[in-house]
Amino acid sequence: MTKEKNAVLNYMSKHGLKRFAPKAALVDMDGTLYDSMPNHAKAWHDLMTGIGIECSVDEFFLYEGRTGVSTINMLFNRAYGHDATPEQAADLYHHKTELFAQLPSVHVMPGAPEMIKGLRDAGLETVLVTGSGQNTLLNRLDTDFPDAFPVDRRVTSRDVKHGKPHPEPFLLAMEKVKVAPVESIAIDNAPIGVKAGAASGAFTIGVVTGPIPENVLKDVGADLIYSSMEEMSENLPALIESFKCNNQ
Ligand code: MG
Repeated sequence: MTKEKNAVLNYMSKHGLKRFAPKAALVDMDGTLYDSMPNHAKAWHDLMTGIGIECSVDEFFLYEGRTGVSTINMLFNRAYGHDATPEQAADLYHHKTELFAQLPSVHVMPGAPEMIKGLRDAGLETVLVTGSGQNTLLNRLDTDFPDAFPVDRRVTSRDVKHGKPHPEPFLLAMEKVKVAPVESIAIDNAPIGVKAGAASGAFTIGVVTGPIPENVLKDVGADLIYSSMEEMSENLPALIESFKCNNQ
């Protein structure tokens, strides 16, 4: 049995399903569609050390998926014992987006365009689910992933009250395309995103694209794990085939 079929059967047992026929793929942006995490980590580090808050570059990989304001408040609480004011948080996040925009342009994640095309060819609707509000990348989506993420199929930090790891962003994406959790797959590279996807009830695929090891994604509830986006796109036919199996 392929690892895809095994994962789908486990998911069906967990949710008491007789069959699993997903209609929508809910897809993270940073570190999933774009190899943007190193730039985000550098921009966050420069921002925070610039105002005297001690931090390391690597720690920002662990916060990936959080909204900007949530990351700012976490560091403020660690340094000062309280949140930033809403005005401070807005100013700092704006400055962070400027620092990010000044860094060398990020690349599309190798394998991601093939992965998106394969899912759409199989009849799944694609929806963006990102904790980002960063226009530098949002504005590139139509060019890099044509027709996959029109503005009415995007959930960004501007749309949610609770960012990942809360399931709200994925649940909102399901509402946008009128599908149930058990008709959805979530695709994310970060522990916080995988946790949110699993909590939403979607079949959740964790893809390793950075320094975070596979077992961390497994521990937070990934139903299926790939070691790269290229591995996922190469195995997409097996994954789509596995959606045809039933549990009777
Ligand atoms: Mg990500």
